[in-house]
Amino acid sequence: MLYVDLLVDYGQDVLDRGMPSSRLANLTADTESELHEAARNLDIPLDRFQSQGDGDHRWRYAVTPTERDQAIWVLGAKEVDRDGMMKLIAARRRTPSRAAAPRPAAQAAIALDWGDRSHFDHSGDKPCVLCPKLTPLRSHRGEAVHKTCAETWLSQHPGDTRFVSDGTA
Ligand SMILES: [Zn+2]
Repeated sequence: MLYVDLLVDYGQDVLDRGMPSSRLANLTADTESELHEAARNLDIPLDRFQSQGDGDHRWRYAVTPTERDQAIWVLGAKEVDRDGMMKLIAARRRTPSRAAAPRPAAQAAIALDWGDRSHFDHSGDKPCVLCPKLTPLRSHRGEAVHKTCAETWLSQHPGDTRFVSDGTA
């Protein structure tokens, strides 16, 4: 079973972080493999998958209003409110699956959680240290870098901590 919660408007900051809509909901499922399958069916890119990695029970995709509708009408996702979503996710912590769900190949890539405002530099764009384009984003160390560039770099440098998710610095 798939589940979606209600849309919340997160404003300009999430647009600045590369989200396609400021209004987002959470899409999740009973199992992680079911969720990835649904995301593939709806063409939701893997970079919208939110998880701190193995052992994190909060895994979910951020979905736009259109994707949320499609999840409901095309894939039969059940609508829950924020409270219902929190309960679903909390229940996973109590009953951890014995084996990690098989992940799609690309899921080996690292997903940084840079939800904190400190990653956004309002003083303006600077050249990314890893690609030629400009970015308003900053790493914990203050390097100007796109989140996707940092994730790619990390996947190419296993074990390195040049870039880290919020709360793990
Ligand atoms: Zn870049």
